[in-house]
Amino acid sequence: MSLLVVGSVAFDEVETPFGKCEKMLGGSASHFSISASFFTEVNVVAVVGGDFGSEELQTFSNHGIDTSDLEKIPDGKTFRWGGRYDYDLNVAHTLYTDLNVFADFKPKLSEKSRSARLVFLGNIQPDLQRGVREQVPGAELVALDTMNLWIETARESLLRTIRDVDVLIINDAEARQLTGIPNLIKAARTILTWGPKALIAKRGEYGAALFTAESYFAIPAYPLESVFDPTGAGDTFAGGFMGYLSSQKDLDEAALRRAMIFGSVMASFNVEEFGTARTQRLTDEEINERFRDFKRMTHFEEIPFERAVRALK
Ligand code: AMP
Repeated sequence: MSLLVVGSVAFDEVETPFGKCEKMLGGSASHFSISASFFTEVNVVAVVGGDFGSEELQTFSNHGIDTSDLEKIPDGKTFRWGGRYDYDLNVAHTLYTDLNVFADFKPKLSEKSRSARLVFLGNIQPDLQRGVREQVPGAELVALDTMNLWIETARESLLRTIRDVDVLIINDAEARQLTGIPNLIKAARTILTWGPKALIAKRGEYGAALFTAESYFAIPAYPLESVFDPTGAGDTFAGGFMGYLSSQKDLDEAALRRAMIFGSVMASFNVEEFGTARTQRLTDEEINERFRDFKRMTHFEEIPFERAVRALK
């Protein structure tokens, strides 16, 4: 039962129509690992600068996350991302991306990290993702996330990295951008010919869909009346998805489907407050309750078809 993640550990500056936060713990690896820590043991591979304090580190240790492969460059600066959301909270507008210590990062994995059973290549430069993938050749399942920036600026490297992963977890818009195909179903079918055995298309407030060569499964998002900050929803989804799978022996279709629900449950909590504030205080009971809500929300009986007129007679 071990799960490895490489991705960004960041300081985020975020503005939504409901508020503003100038500096908070963020990054794909942070959102992912806090979410996954509710299900399994997580190891983080990333780099931070001298400005990354003991308070931020404490957040990881509070959740039992192993940070022995979180490198610290004392005279460097931590990755910074600035973003803004308008009323359409499905679209993040990047204001700046300061790679800082990530610009020269060469991930070196410990013995323990190299023996991870599951690996998540979180959103970061695709060469770095591949560098980690190559150091864990025996992993049973490897998943990858990315974003428009890398599709635009590092496309060839990204396509090479995608060839060697089992599951791609991306936004519907990214699937279209990656393939140049406007129809999501066709785009997904195309991606499945590139190497991955499964594709998960995240659709923000509309839920998520799982595509494999043989099957299709889709779920709605949890119906929330107030969404405060969507930053990290995708990584939190991936954390719930991979964390749950890591706790399972058989990674079959039924497990993948349940993992989709756990991913959505975790993401639904994440967006209720800024950054990782809400997920940090989550309880097992709250997670269970929303899982049961999902079951109720999506359940229906199968009955033989009868025309309405016949029913009226
Ligand atoms: P998402 O789950 O897609 O909302 O991811 C949001 C997180 O991704 C933020 O906490 C950012 O710090 C991080 N992020 C944004 N841009 C990048 C990038 N180019 N590389 C790595 N991480 C990023």
